[in-house]
Amino acid sequence: MTLHTPQPGILEIALYEGGKSSIAGRDDVVKLSSNENPLGVPPAAREAIVKAAGRVHVYPSTDHASLREAIGAVHGLDPARILCGVGSDEVLQFVTQAYAGPGDEILHTEHGFSMYPILAHMAGATPVSVPEAERVVDVDAILEAVTEKTRIVLLTNPGNPTGTMLADAELLRLADGLPERVILVIDAAYAEYAEGYDGGAALAGERRNVLMTRTFSKIYGLGGLRIGWGYGPQEIIDVLRRLRQPFNLSDLQMAAAEAAVRDQDWVRDCAALNRDQRARLTGALRQLGLDCDDSQTNFVLARFADGESAAQADQALQDDGILVRRATGYGFPEGLRITVGDKDQTGRVIAALTRWREAGQ
Ligand SMILES: *Cc1c(COP(=O)(O)O)cnc(C)c1O
Repeated sequence: MTLHTPQPGILEIALYEGGKSSIAGRDDVVKLSSNENPLGVPPAAREAIVKAAGRVHVYPSTDHASLREAIGAVHGLDPARILCGVGSDEVLQFVTQAYAGPGDEILHTEHGFSMYPILAHMAGATPVSVPEAERVVDVDAILEAVTEKTRIVLLTNPGNPTGTMLADAELLRLADGLPERVILVIDAAYAEYAEGYDGGAALAGERRNVLMTRTFSKIYGLGGLRIGWGYGPQEIIDVLRRLRQPFNLSDLQMAAAEAAVRDQDWVRDCAALNRDQRARLTGALRQLGLDCDDSQTNFVLARFADGESAAQADQALQDDGILVRRATGYGFPEGLRITVGDKDQTGRVIAALTRWREAGQ
């Protein structure tokens, strides 16, 4: 018997596994396993970080006012209804911690982000997985799964690792169909890659039970710094603020994020590069006889004949110094999630898979 018993749910947590970042004996690795920006740190953010470096002996601002104003100005949102966190993961954790506990259910979809069951268990709540329909979120299945115990629905839109997304009308139907007492969280980590999509901002602006989360880790190229934000009803934001530690973000983080969000030209360039290389990669995969859905993100889920074939292709890519993500943990043993890189990197992926195919696989 153990001497100390952790809170309910904590021992149910299976530790999160990140994408691999190195291959033994190689220093020319192309890392396409964590959906990072191939163009790296935005130059304006790098400059801001260097400037802020001289201030790190001083405690940072507790209200994040300057960053929230910048985000609000760029997105046309009320800064008072924005909350910043250590990655969007922290904002998601505030929601689950604030609104669910033992006996409550948190719904997520079958192939939803692997952090969701972890966050539910952290709160002592029960994660409930809802089936998708051919790798697309099924609104009716979610609505049918709602019970008296449901407190939160965590939705990745566009999805990871599927890359598919719900059209605005379907998202609206989901929001309309949920009881108002259930909070709908739209995790829009990849919103900038989906053309014409507001990430759920309009819904989060007008509904009492919809929250949108966004991140600086993907198109903004700042994954290593850990910055995200949420936007939603004032009532919910004010509750989450009570859970946020006063100094959760450093000046370095805030300065970098503010510079990055104010550089929308950079964002447009990154989105354009991604669109071109994503189309190229998708076309090449299909030519090689591999299935993949049209992606609305910065990655493509390639589906092989079976798990063994995916493992062999993964090994062939690694032999060529390329790291992608096996999607087994997401329910796709036959899948490899490949981040869309720059022109060179995409060329290397296509060449490696072509050689693998030509070797008789
Ligand atoms: C990458 C990602 C995030 C971002 O997490 P951060 O904590 O902001 O780095 C959130 N949700 C999904 C689905 C993601 O893939």
